[in-house]
Amino acid sequence: MTLDDTRLSRRKFLGAGATAVAVVAWDVNTGSWLTAADAAVSSPAATPVPPQLAGKLVTDEAALAAAADDFGHIISRVPQAVLQATSAEDISTLIKWANKVGVKVAARGQAHSVFGEAQAENGVVIDMNGLNTIHELGDDFAVVDAGVTWEQVLEQSIPLGLAPPVLTDYVRLSIGGVLAVGGIGGNMNQDGMVIDNVDSIDVVTGNGQLVRNVSARRKADLFDAALGGLGQAAIITKARIRLAPVSALVRVYELTYTDAGAYLADQRTLVADGRFGYHEGQIVSDGAGGWNFKIEVGAYYNPPAAPDDAALLAGLSPDGGQVISDLPTEVWYSRVSFAEAQLRQIGLWDTPHPWSDLFLDDASAEQYLTETVLPTLTPEGVGAGLLLLYPFRSELLNRPMARVPEGDVVWAFDILRFPFDPTLTDALLAENRLLFEDAAALGGNFYPIGALDTTPAEWEAYFGPLYDTLLANKRRYDPADVLTPGQDI
Ligand SMILES: Cc1cc2nc3c(=O)[nH]c(=O)nc-3n(C[C@H](O)[C@H](O)[C@H](O)COP(=O)(O)OP(=O)(O)OC[C@H]3O[C@@H](n4cnc5c(N)ncnc54)[C@H](O)[C@@H]3O)c2cc1C
Repeated sequence: MTLDDTRLSRRKFLGAGATAVAVVAWDVNTGSWLTAADAAVSSPAATPVPPQLAGKLVTDEAALAAAADDFGHIISRVPQAVLQATSAEDISTLIKWANKVGVKVAARGQAHSVFGEAQAENGVVIDMNGLNTIHELGDDFAVVDAGVTWEQVLEQSIPLGLAPPVLTDYVRLSIGGVLAVGGIGGNMNQDGMVIDNVDSIDVVTGNGQLVRNVSARRKADLFDAALGGLGQAAIITKARIRLAPVSALVRVYELTYTDAGAYLADQRTLVADGRFGYHEGQIVSDGAGGWNFKIEVGAYYNPPAAPDDAALLAGLSPDGGQVISDLPTEVWYSRVSFAEAQLRQIGLWDTPHPWSDLFLDDASAEQYLTETVLPTLTPEGVGAGLLLLYPFRSELLNRPMARVPEGDVVWAFDILRFPFDPTLTDALLAENRLLFEDAAALGGNFYPIGALDTTPAEWEAYFGPLYDTLLANKRRYDPADVLTPGQDI
């Protein structure tokens, strides 16, 4: 397609609305799109829009408003345009052009970020939904475009008896969006993070180079920079992800504790012996304004074999009761999608979600829980949401950009807030800051999916010894700093 064709198709597209006007160029001085008439007047500053795009570059109000929003509904940064990309080549062309004219670019998967991470103020947002092909499903791998969701992978892999070894709790997230942040979930104690289960990726770097088959053996520095790399060095366009045999059923054990110390002790026992395939845990309301603790573990199995309950629960001492249930594994993998339907019904899916997501140091977890978390938490601040608190073994994490605290065991602590009162947002953002600062003082870190207004110094501390690597990656792969401004690094 030539530039003229591109102009033509864009005109055709924009012509659909009564007030739509064709954009034909970009004004580098004002940082805005130009119509044919504008471009003629201000021609010295006018740069043609990127040629040879197969996808559409749209600037209509609805598209811009959508790209200025996300699941958090807290931050809103309006881009100049949205590229509805259909190929890696499109992304490469767009980014080369962005380098030339100095425009920021961010990939947008399912926009389940909560703090503007996939937004690009006055820049171009790349809508990844058009990169939606599952190319190949093998015995132990799948080759998928980055815009595909994990749910779509499961729809095809489960009938073959396969699934990714580690999944996020919610699977309506894009491959690229999760690989950009790391991906934690209940199977981590067997197989690490989601990014630890990727064989290779195709990427477009920040200088617009399309690089295929990037792996731990081939262009390892780019592999390391992209996985868990928060979109700073490259946009992932395709991934070869691992698949493993999936059991038909999972037996889920919910063990309740009234005492924080007993809960933490049993969690440590479980993480040390790894007896369960699935292992998470929660802080739950006791119904009287206080909090209990719940270990949530699961044993995957294929009938007629069945889990040995007595052996699996040996040595654990929940004092608040236990619930045991059997579920088809595919239903278990979709559990948050069922919760989504309920939250939509009560009108809390599209309201502000000031989530807090942290990693805690093991040695100070009890102190942090009793001195910071429990005195700070309020039922109103959680609303219809969920509080996760569970340990995982850091030795299984192999991708350097996923930053977790030192130590063999690390705790994930997430407040997945669905407040009933949206006016609480500012107060809850302040609470997130307090929770983070106390965690950081005790050796903790943040997981960069939450609603936390992070300072440059805090980002430097986040990357720790890898901060220099981040800067070197930027210099090498995104020297004009066009990529992923929404992370605010
Ligand atoms: C209900 C819910 C449940 C969740 N559960 C979990 C969980 O269990 N475990 C967990 O780890 N996380 C969880 N998350 C967080 C989620 O993993 C991240 O927010 C993830 O980044 C969202 O994916 P997305 O496709 O919506 O990405 P987006 O929000 O679209 O993008 C996220 C970031 O990744 C960048 N990005 C997007 N696509 C690409 C790409 N192809 N290449 C490079 N960068 C890209 C964006 O620019 C942005 O910075 C949950 C979120 C929600 C809303």
